Amino acid sequence: MLFSGAIVGGLLGLVVSGTGAEAPVAKGPPLIVLDPGHGGKDLGAVRRGKVYEKDLALAFTRKVRERLEKGGIATRVTRDADEYVPLDERIHDSIRWGGSMFVSLHINQDRNKKAQGIEVYAFGKHRARRYRKWRNRLPYLPAPPRAASSVSRELADHLVRSLKTDGFRADPPERAGFYVLKNPKIPSVLIELGYLSNAEEAERLSDAAYQDKLAGAIAESLREYVARGGDVEADQQAKK
Ligand SMILES: [Zn+2]
Repeated sequence: MLFSGAIVGGLLGLVVSGTGAEAPVAKGPPLIVLDPGHGGKDLGAVRRGKVYEKDLALAFTRKVRERLEKGGIATRVTRDADEYVPLDERIHDSIRWGGSMFVSLHINQDRNKKAQGIEVYAFGKHRARRYRKWRNRLPYLPAPPRAASSVSRELADHLVRSLKTDGFRADPPERAGFYVLKNPKIPSVLIELGYLSNAEEAERLSDAAYQDKLAGAIAESLREYVARGGDVEADQQAKK
């Protein structure tokens, strides 16, 4: 069994049983694992040959991390330099560290130059075209346990609600089969912070003041979720 029933009621009382090779995840204070997309030879989205998704994802991750740590929440990052870290290694690390949630940060791109806005994904059925090319090189991961994906979806919903409240343009929460959303032990979400293919948004995403604002809003939303104990019922009550 990967998840105790308790996970549904309270994400951060995360109880996960070890699988032998893995150290069992300890109960304790929440640990948010931040995952800056891409890195090293994997550039991610590129704008005009000089603005790389991998760099922006790292810049945002550092800012979200700083805000969380200031708020007293422990974090780990899957990379803190421009280096290539395979997706399965990122998942493995997050479990080994005893993470209580996994938050992957990416920058979007689309052929439609007008596409814009923030998108938050949790595991679910959706065509994940851009990730297809990775699939064969990575160890197979089945769909995550239901309890984990249900918490992931709650977290995604919460993030979208609070980002919208803060005045950001965020789409309704989405589902996808991205590899990092298949973390078998830790609720996981992926945030596309905006479109590098959209001229206006690309400019904003590279702007330090905007990075601070958005990173601050994400950190605050995560902090709020943690403070609430990831309580799904409380979350649903808040919706009413
Ligand atoms: Zn990406």
